[in-house]
Amino acid sequence: MRTYDLVAVGAGIASASLVYNLLKQGFKGSILTLDRLDAVAQGPSAFSAGGFRNLWTTSINQQLCSRGIEILKGYKDEIGVSCGFKQTGYLFTYYAKAWERIPEAAKIWSDNGVNFELWTPQQIEAKIPGLKCGTDHIDPEVAEYLGFEPIVGGVFGNDCGAFDPSQAAVGYFEKAAAFANKPTVQLRTEAVKILFDASGRTEGVVIKDASGAEETVKAGIVALCAGPWTNELLERSGVPKEHRLPIINQKRMLFITDFPDQDPRWMDIPMTIIDQGIYFKEEAGNLMIGKARKDAPDSLETEFEPDYYVEEINLPMQERIPSVAVCKLKSGWASLYDTVTEDHNAILGWHEEYPGLLLQTGYSGHGAMESPAAGICLAELVITGKYQTIDCSPLRWGRFREKQLVHEKIVI
Ligand SMILES: Cc1cc2nc3c(=O)[nH]c(=O)nc-3n(C[C@H](O)[C@H](O)[C@H](O)COP(=O)(O)OP(=O)(O)OC[C@H]3O[C@@H](n4cnc5c(N)ncnc54)[C@H](O)[C@@H]3O)c2cc1C
Repeated sequence: MRTYDLVAVGAGIASASLVYNLLKQGFKGSILTLDRLDAVAQGPSAFSAGGFRNLWTTSINQQLCSRGIEILKGYKDEIGVSCGFKQTGYLFTYYAKAWERIPEAAKIWSDNGVNFELWTPQQIEAKIPGLKCGTDHIDPEVAEYLGFEPIVGGVFGNDCGAFDPSQAAVGYFEKAAAFANKPTVQLRTEAVKILFDASGRTEGVVIKDASGAEETVKAGIVALCAGPWTNELLERSGVPKEHRLPIINQKRMLFITDFPDQDPRWMDIPMTIIDQGIYFKEEAGNLMIGKARKDAPDSLETEFEPDYYVEEINLPMQERIPSVAVCKLKSGWASLYDTVTEDHNAILGWHEEYPGLLLQTGYSGHGAMESPAAGICLAELVITGKYQTIDCSPLRWGRFREKQLVHEKIVI
């Protein structure tokens, strides 16, 4: 029977960062990383917009992301390959009522040393070609139908931007392979169930390869980096509902259109968030546009729906930026958020009821940017027994039953 010190289920960016940082910090044990897909980082990590920002209202998200930005900035020097890091900023735009609440958030950002600027409508219009902050150019009936109001201000996060999470994950795994005790990465292999002893301690994992052959692998630590498939694995492992995780899986889509015109400013636009939560950024010389469907059902279904762009995005987008009317939808895709229903934040650290079960899941749409720093912190927890770089204990599993939720107000 094969025995490992740690088995990581999932080979997305979360697992990649954990595995690399364990080895970097001197973990001497043996590691097996499993993924049921054909290559590493082929799940949601590959379909992410890859945005990173430190504009958050909760201290833990700010800390993880500020640290994450430093890591991504130095990623090429440390790992030896690019992760597509582009620090073009984030621009949140606001109507009058929401703008009134910005001083409260701005105080939190200032207190935490977050770099940001408050922008006037003129500054916003100068940055985003063709965007009109007012509503005078819109038919009043259309404006009312869309619930449009004038944009009265914006928050620009100078340190924010975007990167390629799957490229970053591949780089982490390649760098991990350079260590003497390099991890075994086993693809096309599913974790069928996690094994626990009578006291709940993690004992191993039953795995199944592409031929259907099952094998039991012993492991004292199982790191659950399985994203949206976390609860189904826990259920198959016999973990009762009250000890599973408050995660639902929600389809999220991204749409690629061409630029409306040749204005060179498009290449440097920040990740921009406008009316109804529509967000867009530059992506390989095109526009990448997204909008979360409100109350998307709990499902693992990921069929791409071009009609969603036509019905939910096209009209508001072109009313706010009239030149966008000529843009053509070129492609797009659908993938999943593992959304924590209670407070929209990740679940990190040991599962208090199952010693040896390490959680890194429920990232709720911000796992690409948070896992580079979270991997460092979780590696510290495994090796030294406590967090050192950032105290991630506010994100522990136990916060749900203790009612110590970490409510984040800026979620896209
Ligand atoms: C459209 C979209 C846009 C996004 N935009 C952003 C963004 O701008 N910024 C940001 O920070 N985040 C964003 N995210 C979220 C981000 O992509 C995720 O939080 C992050 O990729 C999570 O990484 P992960 O490694 O935890 O999980 P995943 O990438 O989901 O990887 C989990 C892996 O586990 C494997 N797996 C699961 N169960 C098993 C099993 N039983 N056996 C074997 N393998 C298993 C899966 O095959 C998968 O490869 C976005 C997500 C989507 C879908």
